[in-house]
Amino acid sequence: MHTDITELLDMLSKSKHNYDFDMIKSAFEFAQICHEGQFRKSGEPYITHPIAVAELVASLDLDTSSICAALLHDTVEDCGDKATIEIIKDKFGNEVSELVDGLTKLVAIPFNDKEEEHIENLRKMFLAMSKDIRVIFIKLCDRLHNMRTLSSHYEYKQRTIALETMHVYAPLAHRLGMQKIKQELELLALQYLDPIGYDEVKKHIEEKYGKNKDFLDNAQNNIANKLNEQNIKFGIEGRVKSIYSIYKKMYNQNKSFEEIYDFYAIRIIVDTELECYTVLGIIHEMFNSMPGRFKDYISTPKPNMYRSLHTTVIGRDGIPFEVQIRTWEMHAVAEYGLAAHWKYKDGTNDDSLDNKLKWIRTILETEHESLDPDEVLRPLKIDIFEDETFVFTPKGDVINLPNGATGIDFAYAIHSAVGNKMVGLKINGMIAPIDTVLKTGQIVEVLTSASSKGPNRDWLKIVKTGEAKNKIRQWFKREKRNENIALAANDFDRELNHYNKNLTDAEKDTILLNLAKRHGIQSADDFLNAIGYGAISISKISPRIKSEVDKITTSGIETPTPFANIQHESKKLANTKNTSAVIIEGLDNCQAKFAHCCNPLPGDNIIGFITKGYGISIHKYDCPNAVKGLQDPESKDRWVTASWSSSSAKSNTLYQADILILANNSISLLSDISMALSDLRVDILSMNSKSGKDGITTINLSVGAKSTEHFNNIISRLKNIKNVFEVTRGKS
Ligand code: MN
Repeated sequence: MHTDITELLDMLSKSKHNYDFDMIKSAFEFAQICHEGQFRKSGEPYITHPIAVAELVASLDLDTSSICAALLHDTVEDCGDKATIEIIKDKFGNEVSELVDGLTKLVAIPFNDKEEEHIENLRKMFLAMSKDIRVIFIKLCDRLHNMRTLSSHYEYKQRTIALETMHVYAPLAHRLGMQKIKQELELLALQYLDPIGYDEVKKHIEEKYGKNKDFLDNAQNNIANKLNEQNIKFGIEGRVKSIYSIYKKMYNQNKSFEEIYDFYAIRIIVDTELECYTVLGIIHEMFNSMPGRFKDYISTPKPNMYRSLHTTVIGRDGIPFEVQIRTWEMHAVAEYGLAAHWKYKDGTNDDSLDNKLKWIRTILETEHESLDPDEVLRPLKIDIFEDETFVFTPKGDVINLPNGATGIDFAYAIHSAVGNKMVGLKINGMIAPIDTVLKTGQIVEVLTSASSKGPNRDWLKIVKTGEAKNKIRQWFKREKRNENIALAANDFDRELNHYNKNLTDAEKDTILLNLAKRHGIQSADDFLNAIGYGAISISKISPRIKSEVDKITTSGIETPTPFANIQHESKKLANTKNTSAVIIEGLDNCQAKFAHCCNPLPGDNIIGFITKGYGISIHKYDCPNAVKGLQDPESKDRWVTASWSSSSAKSNTLYQADILILANNSISLLSDISMALSDLRVDILSMNSKSGKDGITTINLSVGAKSTEHFNNIISRLKNIKNVFEVTRGKS
């Protein structure tokens, strides 16, 4: 354990790279001040840890920024005000501060004991949050040092950390091709997770190896002599298979110790690819090979870039051993994986991080075509860097969503029941709008209520995932058939009105049924239902609608009646199907009709009354029936808050409005009123007049008005008519 960086600087000065020694020294001095007075569990000064991590990072041949970040990696997390990301940015620049920031954020990922699918998501989250691949390298070194010093922790903590290491860090190291780190992590973790199994395998190995102590040396010498004869320059090393890989074969694949053929292995490293094949030929001449055990990972590299020739041959006393043949470059990649690639690329400064990530992506995507599924974990999609968002549930599970997904998508990703009962959203403990777009790393909580009336149709336009869309549609399909039909009928009507053909109801029904059949649906209601819950989009079938309309209107079926105009006008009057004008609190797009006692107009304060079976009836807030009803204990709970929707102001829908006119008797009175209304282009729905003996005429007039504003214009125009002295809303 070092408390200074003499050794580190020594390592770096021997390297062929150019390091910024001043920067590394000042990063060390800063870390030293920050960790002053802090100690590891083992009792050693805390600074020994960042130094050890920096040494490991240096052994991977990473750059100056990475070494500085390794020295600083725990300062922001552990040293309060002494170190913030801003201070580090000031002192060491953007690159270092971003690496430290990435490392600090990874600390916040809770790795608990999880099911496999969650663990896979955690690995992805880990990568997504790392952003820069160097963060992962440094983090792996950090973890390796923590594993080496794990013995000073409590047993529970040891187990948790070892489990995390086995499930998250070792697989990541494997995928990044860092065999050396991966193997050491696995070995250390196994000692804490299954000490008995570890000892058993270790004992087996020692016994077996003990019996054949010179087996490897002997084989190695024979091979070396032969290669020397052929004038091949080579390196050679012998090894006994790692405890963890034997453990895995014995316990996970239920193999006996004798079935493990690659217990002994000899590795031969040469200069060129061609020499690899030459050496292979020599080996196969020297020894009998075991059929089916030859693998050419040079022509077909493993997904993590591993390249080598593997063959298993029978040695002395019938003992099999594996021979691995590779070049020095392949060897570096096998040991250090991506870090080795980093090293090779180091000279070319134009190689941006983006390119590197793209490159990693390409490699990891080839995992799908892997020839050796045994060796390879489930495919890791590394394009998460651009397409995916990872967020936590309050329990720490990771939910994986496409970029741009909202709180509503999240709710439906958890469960359709959660989405359907959603009433609110919390992000990192704070209330947020449910349509907030989520960001990687957030903790997201859905607030639900048993009394929720279900999703809102507008959600279909907000959600990003097909899953959420489908679940919302399913809900409407199931729960709201009548409402779907009414809404769709309304939309359909509006679509038909675009063509201005004055279609009769019968014609409309024919068009509807024809369209339904073109979609393979037998009834008009089922067809409208499908439109209503979003399975069929009116705008998408608009060309078909047009062709059906054309078919009907050119076929001569249309027979205009004298009443056509009247019918047309009364059609425009708001009816129960026209529900989009009114918003009822807590209810989505319910069926609403307008009460005739008060005939509310857009602009009036309104209130809704839940009828028994006829939807909601809308009254003016000051309608006597409403005032009375609100006081009646039996019915007062059925009155609900209602308001006009923003679309009601723009639409040209007409609402019935009653006008009471008092005037002095006059012969021209009725024609004056008719003229005035016709000037204003106001439709008269009905007009009754009664002339009294007192010389006063009372007129009950019903017109179509768009809004209170429109209505007030009508009133003031009527007030200007000669002999008229009082004009009020309502009827006598
Ligand atoms: Mn650390």
